[in-house]
Amino acid sequence: MSKIKEVIAKVRETYGNTEKEFVQAVEEVLTSLEPVEKKHEEFTRWNIYERIVEPDRVITFKVTWQDDRGQIHVNRGYRVEFNGAIGPYKGGLRFRKSVNLGIIKFLGFEQIFKNALTGLPMGGGKGGSDFDPHGKSDEEVMRFCYAFMSELFRHIGPYTDVPAGDIGVGSREVGYLYGAYKKLKNEHTGAITGKDYEYGGSLMRPEATGYGLLYFTAHMLNDLGPKVGINVEDPDRPLKGLIVAVSGAGNVALHAIEKANEMGGKVVFASDASGAIYDEAGISGEKFRFLKELKEIRRGRIKEYAEKFNVPYFEGKSVWDVIAEKGIKVQVALPSATQNEITGRHAEALVKVGVKVVAEGANMPSTPEAIKIYKDAGILYGPAKAANAGGVAVSGLEMSQNAQLLQWTREEVDNRLRAIMRHIYEESKNAAEAYGHPGDLMMGANIAGFLKVAKAMVALGLFY
Ligand code: NDP
Repeated sequence: MSKIKEVIAKVRETYGNTEKEFVQAVEEVLTSLEPVEKKHEEFTRWNIYERIVEPDRVITFKVTWQDDRGQIHVNRGYRVEFNGAIGPYKGGLRFRKSVNLGIIKFLGFEQIFKNALTGLPMGGGKGGSDFDPHGKSDEEVMRFCYAFMSELFRHIGPYTDVPAGDIGVGSREVGYLYGAYKKLKNEHTGAITGKDYEYGGSLMRPEATGYGLLYFTAHMLNDLGPKVGINVEDPDRPLKGLIVAVSGAGNVALHAIEKANEMGGKVVFASDASGAIYDEAGISGEKFRFLKELKEIRRGRIKEYAEKFNVPYFEGKSVWDVIAEKGIKVQVALPSATQNEITGRHAEALVKVGVKVVAEGANMPSTPEAIKIYKDAGILYGPAKAANAGGVAVSGLEMSQNAQLLQWTREEVDNRLRAIMRHIYEESKNAAEAYGHPGDLMMGANIAGFLKVAKAMVALGLFY
């Protein structure tokens, strides 16, 4: 048995019943490394495959906080410092009821390769809590963040481990978390990214994941579009004439919708955890501004959009459920809500309605069955760790700015983001070619990210 198969079997046996998302992520990455195993005997000798699936450190802790009525609650906090071979651990914090160790480990594992792909010196980590910010007052969120940071602060730092936001952790939460960190450490450093501009954040960080996703999609379309019958006329507006489905209505989804509109696409779907909306005329202009204010400022439900603009709303359904049930025609799919939102059944429907491109804004939004269906159908597939790396890339740029005590202009950050997304696209494409799978950006992204980290682990020896 090859070493990779052996490691996959061991991970499956150990975590198959308890950490299924982690097992899924390991299987996806390691399976695509089989051509690397054949070419690089040194990685087997240094036992890199087994070492890389074991986190450097897993921290779990108790978070005790008080609600507005004086009741005391206990949540679980997590930080998984997965791999620090190429730089300080870096990755967001997720606050959602469903958070557990398996989800945080899958996200941390993916983050290792994503961060390596950006070309910036960042290791992989992730954290969060099963705390649910929905329906909580600002004061309750603030008390929770303070309690969470009262433990986390001793594990992080600008050159050790640098958290940021993720689902349920946006500008408000990052502010409270950083306020607590500053107070406890008595220092103002880049130990958290995603900060507001006023106290050390980077311009363009809020937009970075969604915009980066579209920069990546533009490379796919401009380069490989003809393979799927899309001939781009204007490289700056490669989505012209294309109908786009975005899922989610959070940080990633909103900025993806905005940039997709700018690039000439017509975005007809968005969703939240309660349901999906379908706006045949397109979510743009005043309607987009309404949606942004509804979700970012008022923290309301997406149903309000349907009521205000008199468009269909599908309670309890995802965007992909609606496409499957109604057969609505879409050419570009940008899943930007959560993991495993597109199943095999959904993917079959996407093929049927004429989807040509899937680029992932969320982390691991497609199940392995769905990915196989995209590939068999010849759909252009941009995997999360490449397509959504713009967020962590600008977080890396925020760390650089903090270290220099400088803040760059919006234009400077945007130019660097564009260059990084181009680099990621080219690295993924070239690695896929070099290892015998031309056009397979998933294999290319996994291989390119892995090679950088594996080489560093060999160079650092066993003390690392
Ligand atoms: P947000 O919390 O800002 O938004 C998440 C959106 O997805 C919300 O609209 C939420 O609905 C919806 N959603 C969340 N969970 C589910 C679910 N189980 N079923 C249906 N809808 C759901 O998070 P982000 O936009 O930051 O993150 C979205 C995805 O992108 C995640 O996979 C995240 O890991 C990934 N990502 C984020 C990055 C970032 O920079 N923020 C960077 C790279 C990846 P509701 O409004 O009802 O809560």
